[in-house]
Amino acid sequence: MTPIAKFRALPKVLLHEHLDCSLRPRTMLELWAQTDFNNPNFPFPLEIVELWLSGLKLNQVKASRKYQSYLVKFAGQSLTNYVKAIVDHVLPLMQSVDNLYRITKERIEDARNDGIVALELRFAPQLHTMQGLSLDEVMQAVIRAVDETCDIQVKLIVCALRHENAQVATKLSELCLKYGQYVSGFDLAADESLNPGVLEWWLTEAVKVRDFGIGLTIHLWETNNPTEIDLDRLNLGKITRLGHGIRGQLQGQHVLEICPTSNVVTGQVKSFKLHPIHDLYVKGHLVTVNTDGTLFTNTSLSKEYQKLRYHFNWDEEDFLQVNRNAISASYFSTEVKDQLLNQLLIAYQDLTD
Ligand SMILES: [Zn+2]
Repeated sequence: MTPIAKFRALPKVLLHEHLDCSLRPRTMLELWAQTDFNNPNFPFPLEIVELWLSGLKLNQVKASRKYQSYLVKFAGQSLTNYVKAIVDHVLPLMQSVDNLYRITKERIEDARNDGIVALELRFAPQLHTMQGLSLDEVMQAVIRAVDETCDIQVKLIVCALRHENAQVATKLSELCLKYGQYVSGFDLAADESLNPGVLEWWLTEAVKVRDFGIGLTIHLWETNNPTEIDLDRLNLGKITRLGHGIRGQLQGQHVLEICPTSNVVTGQVKSFKLHPIHDLYVKGHLVTVNTDGTLFTNTSLSKEYQKLRYHFNWDEEDFLQVNRNAISASYFSTEVKDQLLNQLLIAYQDLTD
C-alpha cells in the first residue's frame, strides 16, 4: 500500500467533519480522569482506567489506543450505539468553555497535520448547553479557536438535528446570522432512518438564512432512498450539498459529501471495497471525500485517500478532481476559493511532473 505520508503531503479540502466525532482519545481520557472516570451512563472499561492511572506515558498511549478501539467497536455495532457513544462518551466532555475551545483547537491542529488546507467543521451548539452554557457561550468558545487559526481556512456549519423542532431551528438560524462571519452553513443532521427526508420545519428556517448568504447542507440518502418529495424540497431550498448521499439514482447536480469509512462503520456499506464512491465518481457525479469524524471511524482524510488508491486505484488526477469539487462547493469566499485552487493546482502538478 502507498505510504500514508504521501497522502498527508497532499493539500486537501474537507467539507464534512463533525466536531463531536473527532476528539482525540487521549484528550478524552485526560478529561474523563478529571471526573474520576465517573459517568452514570456506562462503566468505564477497567483495563483502560488502570493503564491511564498508572501515570506512565507508555501506558497512557496504550490506554488511548485501547479506548479508541473500544469506541470504534461499540459504535460499529449499530447506528443506535453510534449515537449512544456520542451521548455517553463525548458530549459530557463538551459542556464547558475551556473544553470546547481545547477540543476545537485540537481538531484544527489535527486537520493541519493531515494536510488539510480548508476545513468546514460542523457541530450542533444546542448539544453543549446541558450544564448551563448559553448558545452564545458555546459559539464563542468554538469561534475563539477558529479565530486563532491563520494558516488554514476554517468555517463552521451549524447543525439542527432531525429529532428536534421548529423552535430549535429558529434559535439556530439566529445563531447562524449572528455569527455569520464564522458560520458558513446550516445543516440538518442525525438519524435519517427515524426522521427521513428534507424536513419541512428545518427547510423553512434554512431558506431564511440562505437569503443572507449562509449555505445549506443536509444529511440525506445515507440510510434512505431518494423520494420525489425530497427532490422537490431540495429544489425549493436550492440545496445542492448532500451529506453522504450514496443511495438511489442520484441526479448529477448534487454535490456528494461522501464519507466512505463512516458508511462502513455504521453498516450502510459492507466494506470499503464495495462502497459506491468509485461508481458515482466514474459516472460523473460531483463527489467529494470526507471523514465524517475521526474518532469512531479511526480514520483521517489521508487514510481515506490511501484506501481509495488501494481499492480503486485513484491517482493524483482523481484526488485533484475531488478537491476541485470540494472547493467549488465550499462556502469560502471567491477570493479564498481562488487561492485554494491555485495552491492545489501547483501541488498536484508537481506530483505529476
Ligand atoms: Zn455527518
